[in-house]
Amino acid sequence: MTRNATLTIAAVLAFGLSASAQTFDRSVRTAENFEPAIPRIAQDSAAAKKLAALKERTGKKPNILWIIIDDMGYGDPGCYGGGGAAGAATPNIDRLAREGLRLTSCYAQQTCTPTRSAILTGRLPVRTGLTRPILAGDKITKNPWSDEVSLPKLLGDAGYQTLLTGKWHVGEVEGMRPHDVGFDEFYGFYPAQKEISQRVDARRYPSLVHDKKMMAAFEGLGIGHHLVHGWKGGRTENVSSVESTEDMSRADQVLADFTVKKIQEMAKGDQPFFIEHCFMKVHCDNFAHPDFKGKSASKYPYKDAVVELDHHVGVLVAALEKAGVLDNTFVFVTSDNGPQMDGWPDAGYTPFRGAKGTTFEGGIRVPGIAYWQGMIAPARESDGIFDLMDLFGTALHLAEVPTDALPQDRYYDFINQTSFLLADTGKSKREVAYFWWGKELMACRMRQYKAHIKVVIPSVMHSYIDQATVQDVGLAPWFFDLYLDPKEEASVGHRLSPWLASVASKLRAHGALLRKYPPKNIGL
Ligand code: CA
Repeated sequence: MTRNATLTIAAVLAFGLSASAQTFDRSVRTAENFEPAIPRIAQDSAAAKKLAALKERTGKKPNILWIIIDDMGYGDPGCYGGGGAAGAATPNIDRLAREGLRLTSCYAQQTCTPTRSAILTGRLPVRTGLTRPILAGDKITKNPWSDEVSLPKLLGDAGYQTLLTGKWHVGEVEGMRPHDVGFDEFYGFYPAQKEISQRVDARRYPSLVHDKKMMAAFEGLGIGHHLVHGWKGGRTENVSSVESTEDMSRADQVLADFTVKKIQEMAKGDQPFFIEHCFMKVHCDNFAHPDFKGKSASKYPYKDAVVELDHHVGVLVAALEKAGVLDNTFVFVTSDNGPQMDGWPDAGYTPFRGAKGTTFEGGIRVPGIAYWQGMIAPARESDGIFDLMDLFGTALHLAEVPTDALPQDRYYDFINQTSFLLADTGKSKREVAYFWWGKELMACRMRQYKAHIKVVIPSVMHSYIDQATVQDVGLAPWFFDLYLDPKEEASVGHRLSPWLASVASKLRAHGALLRKYPPKNIGL
């Protein structure tokens, strides 16, 4: 944390009343290196009963299927207010929400690599060193995975078959690939869609595509443009390469076909499975798959991509049903960050302030749908705080991996939210979510209150990455009541809210943790 941030927090506490912090915070710390959680004994017991009955019936631990969409906005799916109203209907995603649990306060990190690494390690990016997207030319000084214990490793040790299909974006050198860090199998692409398509997209990148010398230099950066198939142990094959924008447009179809095939295979085995299916779309640049071109009401490539992915979501869930494992598979659908407005109009929609690259709600609040036939009651919705890192703890619980299997020399930020998701009246066990931007502690949300000690401000319309600055706030944090002001427009500041001190004290304690558990520096 920077000196400025430390000073700002100190200034915040000058307003504070520590007694109010004690009563406002319901969370309880049960171990020094684990994030405190709100105790909810009755719902834990209800969820345990459901899981025991399921195991009795199926004789197996449950399967897990995460579906991660790249850069989809909170407001894109119909069940979050978009869909047809935003020019791209999403009937399949909407059905899962209708028949499952729709989370309205589900949080990602503000960019791709941080979210993707956090959900597989249960740890904030500042702790693992994966603080921002890895880009061409980055010189990583230390393999962050060399001492991280990944979820697929833990699930594999617990008897699971593990597969990552699609986008990885957490390192593509040997030792950092999905099949090096715990997955049994990887079938997908290392970088984001635009990193791949720029070498074949003459319309957007003519100075690269039409200049042989520039292209040779670009190729020297070594950005992967292959569909890669890798197996634990190191065997790695290039299946095909992206040689046109049409190849890129077809990528998600190829990936969905592969996961469907693997679901059929793995469902027949004795072992449970964990599949993380990561779509390439709807990260810019989007090229409409020929079968979906113009299929959205909007006709824009981004919106056609939303329609296409919604179709694939339906196909993946249908594959579980056909394989006879729908009732024994926990499905979670989400996005890894808010819409990338810098790419507009090849961008999603959020009703909130900010976008990808910021810690305003637009950058971090994402769709989150938990679906499990027979286990999650239909038509539930909750505004309880859920951090995507909580998927790590929930998956461990479902796989019956005890937390003492984790190394005790480091801090874990996840919360086991199994009972929130499974109990019919389950409530979130997370009191606070913390938001970082690179190595800067920016903000936190506690109940409906959010305090910012730093903010990312665009200097021109929609430019939250390319032309934005990180700023300190002034004497008081920017403090918003998200129920009154979901767009975070008018700070209620230190004069109007008695809760500022409580939230600020959580921020201070969170920042202080870094002294005991120092962040890892990997050169990003
Ligand atoms: Ca992303």
